[in-house]
Amino acid sequence: MSKYQLGLEFAKEQDKNDPLAVYRNQFHIPKDKNGNDLIYMTGNSLGLQPKQTKAYVNQELEDWANLGVEGHFEAKNPWLGYHEFLTNAMAKVVGAKPIEVVVMNTLTANLHFLMVSFYQPTKKRYKILIESDAFPSDKYAVESQLRHHGFDDKEGLVLWEPRKNEELLNYEDLETILEEQGDEIAMLMIGGVNYYTGQFFDLKRITQLGHKHGCTVGFDCAHGAGNVPLNLHDSGADFAAWCTYKYLNSGPGSLAGCFVHERHAHKKDLNRFTGWWSHNKNTRFNMRGEFDQIPGAEGWQLSNPPILSMAAIKASLDLFDEVGFKKLTEKSKKLTGYFEFLLKQLGNDTIKIITPSNPDERGCQLSIQVKNADKSLHTKLTEAGVISDWREPDVIRCAPVPLYNSFEDVYKVVKNLSLALSEGEGTHTEQNDKK
Ligand SMILES: *Cc1c(COP(=O)(O)O)cnc(C)c1O
Repeated sequence: MSKYQLGLEFAKEQDKNDPLAVYRNQFHIPKDKNGNDLIYMTGNSLGLQPKQTKAYVNQELEDWANLGVEGHFEAKNPWLGYHEFLTNAMAKVVGAKPIEVVVMNTLTANLHFLMVSFYQPTKKRYKILIESDAFPSDKYAVESQLRHHGFDDKEGLVLWEPRKNEELLNYEDLETILEEQGDEIAMLMIGGVNYYTGQFFDLKRITQLGHKHGCTVGFDCAHGAGNVPLNLHDSGADFAAWCTYKYLNSGPGSLAGCFVHERHAHKKDLNRFTGWWSHNKNTRFNMRGEFDQIPGAEGWQLSNPPILSMAAIKASLDLFDEVGFKKLTEKSKKLTGYFEFLLKQLGNDTIKIITPSNPDERGCQLSIQVKNADKSLHTKLTEAGVISDWREPDVIRCAPVPLYNSFEDVYKVVKNLSLALSEGEGTHTEQNDKK
């Protein structure tokens, strides 16, 4: 028998017994015109604002107002080493050692800076492998790296593709690619959780495969950080980067995270782009000496960072630290399992969940493919107060986030989806059928 039941009563009962339910009240939940909570399913795109964020940012505004430049040393949280306040909590969230993690720049910028170090092609070994449905920014970034080094961006790009009529990727296929072309591939760069399908990859397995063939391995963890246990250190990956505005709730365009494995921490000869923030903190302000690399991920920093953005990250990480990542993932599995249960109970054969059904191979997001649907389905959901994400040609992505979404939210999403689907019957056009 399923541990889940149909009906709103069950959802309400789950919320009542949920030890994390109190945290919903620590977030601003967007409201509709009548002041009712919207059903927010896009925490995978832009996480909601913790109520405490304002106070954290205000603190820095106040200190700037009152102290000016002295704030670098005299602020309540001195700005000079502000990023250090984030390191331990961020390292915990992604399963890394503090020396392996730093918050800096934005995501795509970090990928480029990391590729300066970990994509060092030779004439023979120059190709880059990515998943065929990689996030566009990642694809553009690696293509431009190929061109930057004088290679053809089509010939040099190797795609790990799903099999015909499938959406998810198979490790056996990756093995085959590496056996065939491994000695020409310089680097694997994979989305730790694929943004489209929600497939959470086995980072360790991919890393071992890549390393076996002499490739460096990096992950874009934008959809993983704050969502799934990444265990970056144990994965053995060379590098990783992620943004903090999705599951890490740090506000639009906020700074990104960066991971460099401990075994690279003291390699002073590893090629990289540097700035004064990569230099030894003790002598940074002497301004005249020879360059002296900081060991670890901090040594990849360039600039003094935006404190206002870091304050928002601190507000969010303090919440993650308080809740504990283990409890979050426990609730996440329950909540998404319930979501899957309700969708299956609809018995509607026009919908298909393309996200893996194994809870260890996904995070909170479910990607729902709706046969013959077009964007009007998404519009209907929006009108019903469900904020979801539409991906052409026919996929709705919904991410019930354990920190602030409720079982009742999930119940309502499925109810509204079911209503929208029954309204939409028989209205599809030829054109959409072809996509
Ligand atoms: C969200 C996301 C991005 C966005 O990159 P920015 O540099 O933050 O604009 C890039 N890659 C992936 C995989 C993403 O999910």
